[in-house]
Amino acid sequence: QRRLTRILVTGGCGFIASNFILTLLEQRPDLHIVNLDKLTYAGNRMNLLALEQDPQRLEQRARYVFIHGDIADPVLVPRLLSEYRIQAVLNFAAESHVDRSIHDSSPFITTNIQGAHNLLEAARKAEIELFLQVSTDEVYGTLGPTGLFSEQTPLAPNSPYSASKASADLLVRAYHETYDLPTVITRCSNNYGPFQFPEKLIPLMLTLAQEDKPLPVYGDGANVRDWIHVLDHCRGVELAMDRGHSGAVYNFGGNAERTNIQVVTTLLDLLGKPHSLIRHVQDRPGHDRRYAMDYTLAARELGFAPKYTFEQGLRETILWYQDNREWLDRVQDGSYREFMNAWYEDR
Ligand code: NAD
Repeated sequence: QRRLTRILVTGGCGFIASNFILTLLEQRPDLHIVNLDKLTYAGNRMNLLALEQDPQRLEQRARYVFIHGDIADPVLVPRLLSEYRIQAVLNFAAESHVDRSIHDSSPFITTNIQGAHNLLEAARKAEIELFLQVSTDEVYGTLGPTGLFSEQTPLAPNSPYSASKASADLLVRAYHETYDLPTVITRCSNNYGPFQFPEKLIPLMLTLAQEDKPLPVYGDGANVRDWIHVLDHCRGVELAMDRGHSGAVYNFGGNAERTNIQVVTTLLDLLGKPHSLIRHVQDRPGHDRRYAMDYTLAARELGFAPKYTFEQGLRETILWYQDNREWLDRVQDGSYREFMNAWYEDR
């Protein structure tokens, strides 16, 4: 069991890591977090607005520092590790959208591979206690109708996004084997929940359906994903940070295999909207057919177990997006996002 009190979280203004930061600062009064984020289109300081504005979180604010910068910056990263006496790096930062990687993979190489390498180099030189790489089930490629991915499943990524994530995983492995760097890799299935950028399936469909716009579904809609609530994933990362064996890989899943069409029709039903809004569109190239996770190892070694059922999590997520209309309007408006980030910069 590690007792870490000073950690660097990268990509903390994105979907998953903002949930992670808000939860951990609240639950762990001895934890100090430095958040290094480049503020790409997906990074938004509004996700952590509660830390700035909520009087109940005043004390937590004192244990939090935001740094606007790039994980691939070879001067900045070593400086942060030393200045804040960082004990562990948790690398959430990434270009994360498969469709964008098909359109232009360059930023995926720069951030997901070179950025991870830069963090590993700095971590090794600073002799930190843990390097935790947040990875994805997509590195395993695709499954047939049966079977599950285990940590022993060979890596066989099919998109530029998953290839860049698999590359980072291999570098992390090599740094453990070659330099004895204490590392843990976590691989999780598809997340959903508050603060997810509305280009991803669930918030995209939710926002379109609410405006009675057509819902584009790739191909026959029969592609299967395993869905996990973001807070279950965050809990898994926390457990891996505290108890994960050095050099280990842990799968996390949500026990919720659903076809894309099932996800979309469930959403429409919960919103009281007609299925006639669904439009089948040309399939994504290289579209993986099915992902499903065997997380026995994480259950046994870490005590990991997802708490949310998909339907309960989805209901709460719909309510969150309905209650946070303003957040949605703002992230959808790029100019406003730039403005907000600049506004924060000036403070
Ligand atoms: P996201 O796209 O919402 O957020 C990514 C964050 O990283 C943003 O805040 C962005 O500004 C920041 N960032 C990007 N490039 C950067 C750079 N060069 N330097 C510093 N910061 C940078 O992503 P997410 O969905 O929250 O995913 C977080 C991590 O979890 C990623 O590594 C992703 O591969 C992994 N993951 C995601 C899922 C999922 O379903 N979303 C599932 C499994 C694993």
